[in-house]
Amino acid sequence: MQYYQHLIEAIGNTPLVKLNKVSQGIPGTILAKVEYFNPGNSIKDRIALKMIEDAEKAGILKPGGTIIEGTSGNTGMGLALVAIAKGYKCIFTVADKQSQEKINVLRALGAEVIVCPTNVPPEDPRSYYSVAKRLNREIPNSFYPNQYDNLSNKQAHYESTGPEIWQQTDGKITHFAAGVGTGGTISGTAQYLKEQNPNVFVLGIDTYGSVFKKYHETGIFDENEIYPYLTEGIGEDILPKNVDFSLIDYFVKVTDKDAALMTRRLAREEALFVGWSCGAAVHGALEYARENMKEDDVMVIILPDHGTRYLNKIYNDDWMRDHGFLERRDFATARDIIR
Ligand code: PMP
Repeated sequence: MQYYQHLIEAIGNTPLVKLNKVSQGIPGTILAKVEYFNPGNSIKDRIALKMIEDAEKAGILKPGGTIIEGTSGNTGMGLALVAIAKGYKCIFTVADKQSQEKINVLRALGAEVIVCPTNVPPEDPRSYYSVAKRLNREIPNSFYPNQYDNLSNKQAHYESTGPEIWQQTDGKITHFAAGVGTGGTISGTAQYLKEQNPNVFVLGIDTYGSVFKKYHETGIFDENEIYPYLTEGIGEDILPKNVDFSLIDYFVKVTDKDAALMTRRLAREEALFVGWSCGAAVHGALEYARENMKEDDVMVIILPDHGTRYLNKIYNDDWMRDHGFLERRDFATARDIIR
């Protein structure tokens, strides 16, 4: 018999899939690492497991404890799965711009979810960062993983994502691209890949409304770069400890609209039904690749999560039109044509 003792043993070892249509006309081989194959449907399962196991080893998390995190949903999902396996309770604080689907999924897994306002600064007591920190102080035997500054996040990718990509590409990878939120994915993976081959080029994907690109290029934390945006999971108005800027060679910014349109193309043209930040990563990576890659180059792009969580947003034509991301004529429905 071949079986796992628990679902969490199925975390990692996700497939690498060639992009065929959306990459047409671009030199080199473009591969996507499809992280929705993780049991929680996102890359965040990897860091959830590592942060919890490191906390157990350090004696911070004890039997019967409560895990409290400010999460946009995917980390919550990973933490909830690992918590069930190991017998912990979970409380999550989320920003109100997050998909209702993500919140519903966390509640389905038995977690308590507290919805906080998006457009307040992180230090505001109502922000999801502040609420998570306060609950951690108030609730005895609670653990606040803090995926932004907890370096177990980056380490999870150094130990799993990086080695998987190196082995899957037989060491032939030349370019690595990933969206940057907490920075764990790009920094941990890049560290491993650059240790194997210092010439691997690392491309960070940022959003308009986030501080990363400007900070990387100038060393200035420019508050004028901060404004509301819609893409979920990437871009920040803080500098998390997990972003190691020295490992990132270049940042590309992608608009909400370009990210949304590319995500829909990935579903329709590559059968990759993935999340919004995946479209951002692919759009930004291909823009870079078009100008800079050569025929023998191999690029790996991380696709962090699954499309289900965005069905009522970017996969909904009316929502897309309401946001000016689609013209009416772009996606005529059968009903429109009969009229
Ligand atoms: N995309 C999605 C959907 C995410 O949830 C996250 C995590 N915030 C990222 C991309 C970015 O990954 P990281 O936090 O490792 O930088």
